[in-house]
Formats: sequence, structure tokens, C-alpha cells
Amino acid sequence: MGIPIGQQIILGRYLLRKKLERAKRFPILVEVEPLFACNLECAGCGKIQYPPEILKKRLSVEQVLAAMDECGAPMVSLAGGEPLVHPEIDQMTRRLLDRGLVVFLCTNALLLEKKLHLFEPHPRFSWTVHIDGMRERHDASVCRNGVFDRAVAAVKRAKRHGFQVTTNTTFFKSDTPADVRSVLEFLNDDLGVDGMMISPGFAYEKAPRPEEFLTVPAARKLFREAFRGRRDEWRLNQSPLFLDFLEGKTELECTPWAIPSYSIFGWQRPCYLMADGYARTYHELLETTNWDAYGRGNDPRCANCMAHCGYEPSAILATMGSLKEAIRAVTAR
Ligand code: SF4
Ligand code: SF4
Repeated sequence: MGIPIGQQIILGRYLLRKKLERAKRFPILVEVEPLFACNLECAGCGKIQYPPEILKKRLSVEQVLAAMDECGAPMVSLAGGEPLVHPEIDQMTRRLLDRGLVVFLCTNALLLEKKLHLFEPHPRFSWTVHIDGMRERHDASVCRNGVFDRAVAAVKRAKRHGFQVTTNTTFFKSDTPADVRSVLEFLNDDLGVDGMMISPGFAYEKAPRPEEFLTVPAARKLFREAFRGRRDEWRLNQSPLFLDFLEGKTELECTPWAIPSYSIFGWQRPCYLMADGYARTYHELLETTNWDAYGRGNDPRCANCMAHCGYEPSAILATMGSLKEAIRAVTAR
């Protein structure tokens, strides 16, 4: 289905304004990490490796609002850590929606049913539930049995209460095209989620067990085979051009400044996958980062990256710059 029409309109207006302002670099969505603490201990997670004094820290609602005001992005993704552990996450969400932003709340869903009453459905609000595969695969990925069933129950309950629910699934070296298809069919057809995001796992700096992550050729082979004849049937919440990129049908350059990451440390340089220092403001991040030094072909650490935060904005910007791609994005089912 591509990016939902309501988000396309908000994004389209914002991108048009940036074009008229002749802005060279600007944020489209901010990955806010209001805490690094989590109620799970997934093997692939680098966030929970921080020392206890860091894991205790929280961004306040005011800090998050100030960061969003300063950078001016129209969309925000609240992640972590587990954002539902944050005691003010409901207020933070409400205040961000009051400012007219599109808000995604990324969660492992363990606390979703317990905290659902603190939230209200809103056309600009979506839960984004982390589901890495079917029961056995997901529970292995998060290193705890029973998490898949709780996440599925939470998705059903949120849907029954009128919330938009999207999912986020990361694939690793051990996944086969059949694994990709089975989880997407389950989320799309059985669970009826509103949109699905997929990404190849990438061995970012703090990730343990880098041998489990996909190289670019392996990721492209996996997605090409998994998508064969099926891609347009699924409500993938990503632009057609980004999906082409995942399949190896097109190349894109990384634009990490468009999906920056903000946490208790400040604005992370250059993206949420690497930490070459932090800036106090988004504008400082823009001005003090040598953006040409990053991306595949520029920095060896980026060699196998196809991450959403680097390449989905590139796809969106290319789509907006091409009438043909814009029509394709709007008409994608
Ligand atoms: S749920 Fe997310 S933040 Fe928590 S341990 Fe797993 S990957 Fe890390
Ligand atoms: S390619 Fe871009 S998004 Fe990926 S790690 Fe490098 S700078 Fe970050």
C-alpha cells in the first residue's frame, strides 16, 4: 500500500515547503529514544548494554517537545528501549499529537494491553509493534517464550479499540524467503495490521553477534525471492522505491540527516546505527557533521547498511522529485 495517504499529505506539504525554502538538508522523521531501558533482553539489541546509570535516565516530555520544535520535522517515532516503560509516555504522545505531528510509538507490546487505556485512537497516531517472525522465531529473537502470543493479543486488542497498528520486522541471515512470506502473510491477512515495515538486520556498532546480520547481496536475494509475485498484495508501509532498493532494482544514496536520532545524549552523529559523537541541537548536527563521509562507498562501516533511517528518506525525496514515482507511490495498494 505504500505510505498511508494522510501521512503522504502531511509529508507532501512539508516537502513542498522545504523545496520553496530551497532547504538542502532537513529532517523528515525523528527517531526519539526517550530511554534505553527495556523489559526485554533481545540478543540483537545494543541499547540495553549501556551501564545502569544510563539505563536509569529518561528524556522529559519538555525535552522531547523542545527537540521537535527546534528541528521542525513533521513525524516522530518514539522508540528506545521500551517507551511504554517511560512513566510519561502517554503525556509525551498527547503533547506531540497536539503539535500536529504524526506519532509512531514503537513497542515490544509487553505493556501495551496494561497501558492501552492511557491512550486514545488518533488519525496521526500508530502503534508500531516489533514482531520479528512467527511464534518460535520471534520468541527466539527476543530471548523469551510467550512474547509472540502477548504481542499478537495486544495487537488484536488495540485494533478492537480503534487504534492504528503497524508492525516492524527485522530479518536476519537465518531467515528464508518462506520465513519472510509466512510472517508477512500472517500480519497482513490474519492479524489485519494497518501497515508493515521490514528491514534487513544490520551489524551496527554496538550490536552483539554481527555474524547473524545480512550482507547487501544476501538481503537483496532474500527480499527478491520473498517478494516474488506477492509484494503488491501486502500492506507494506514503505515507499515502492525503498522496496525496489531492498530488492536490488535500484540504488539510493544514504541521507541520514533526514531521519536523525535524538536521545539522552543529544542528536546522534550520523544516524542511530553509529555514534560518532552527539550534537546539542539538530542545527548543530547539520552544521558540524561531514555528511559526505558517510553512506555505502564512503565509510566501510556503512558497507552492508540498507537501513530505513538512511535509505527510506532517499526514496521519499526521489519519489517527490519524479512525477512517475509520485503517481506510483500514491496508487500503490
Ligand atoms: S525490545 Fe527492543 S529495545 Fe528491548 S531489548 Fe529488544 S530490541 Fe532492545
Ligand atoms: S549507511 Fe547511512 S544509515 Fe547506514 S550506518 Fe551509514 S550513515 Fe547510518
